[in-house]
Amino acid sequence: MTAMPERPFNLDGSRVFVAGHRGMVGAAVARRLGREGCEILTAGRNELDLRRQDAVEAWLQRARPDVVVLAAATVGGILANDSRPAEFLYDNLAIETAVVHGAHLAGVKKLLFLGSTCIYPRLAPQPMKEEHLLTGPLEPTNQWYAVAKIAGLKLCEAYRRQYGCDFISAMPTNLYGPGDTYDARASHVIPALILKAHRAKLARADSFEVWGTGAPKREFLHVDDLADALVHLLVHYSAEETVNIGTGEEVSIKQLAELVAKTVGFAGSVAFDATKPDGSPRKLADCAKLARLGWRSGIDLKSGLKSAYDWFLAHSEKAGPLREGGLTS
Ligand code: GDP
Repeated sequence: MTAMPERPFNLDGSRVFVAGHRGMVGAAVARRLGREGCEILTAGRNELDLRRQDAVEAWLQRARPDVVVLAAATVGGILANDSRPAEFLYDNLAIETAVVHGAHLAGVKKLLFLGSTCIYPRLAPQPMKEEHLLTGPLEPTNQWYAVAKIAGLKLCEAYRRQYGCDFISAMPTNLYGPGDTYDARASHVIPALILKAHRAKLARADSFEVWGTGAPKREFLHVDDLADALVHLLVHYSAEETVNIGTGEEVSIKQLAELVAKTVGFAGSVAFDATKPDGSPRKLADCAKLARLGWRSGIDLKSGLKSAYDWFLAHSEKAGPLREGGLTS
């Protein structure tokens, strides 16, 4: 059974706080909400530190949003996650507790929290269903982020159970798109490979470096698709269990590297660095529940990569700082 509210939630005329609006995900959500009849509220980092409980509570009491989309998080790729465990754990736990509790106190009518498919067990059955959460050990390279995000999901469940808050969560697969962080060491794989392939093209190099063996498989979702799915869930979903958001398609890292090379126009080869970690062998989300709720992905990887590369070219190498937001690990 997929729980649908008796009546859709009406965004028309509502005040929606997008926490983390400068990150890739928050910015995409704000762009998408621009097509609904709602007022979008944001708070810059210098105005509000989302890790501070008192400050967040005071801000929410003043701003009185009807809806909160919690898209703020400390995020990064496999190496960033593995090398900055305290930040990934502390920042994310602090943001979640401050915003979820503050939203409850301020009488927020609907809150949407974002997990990530990387918080499922490392060896979860594929494709991963929502019910597989907490059924096995985590992938060690992102366990810090995963523990924090699992706590966030559970916070939403707990506030729904104890206080009757309409707080829901969603579980996006690996994300990419405009506004991503471009940093060869700290980024997720798509921006990292776009950056490396682009630099290799300019330098007329023979190859660019790809971490690991190339064998792991990943599913990639364009952030504009994600934003569309999130708005759909805000309106049409109200239940404890999280909802996976993906495309249903997976590619190996080797195939991805070749696709990126083609997108960028780099004619050389890829060089695998097997001293770098592979991470999870596979992470494919089962999106049957989302399909039953009436949403399907509309942006394929080829055209999505082109839009990501176009954004990268337009913004050169000045993409936003790692800790500003965006999602998945
Ligand atoms: P993950 O899905 O949590 O493992 O996040 P990432 O996006 O960081 O990595 C996905 C996969 O891409 C892993 O198997 C990485 O080893 C591989 N990969 C290959 N080259 C790179 C790279 O330059 N940067 C990153 N972050 N990952 C890479």
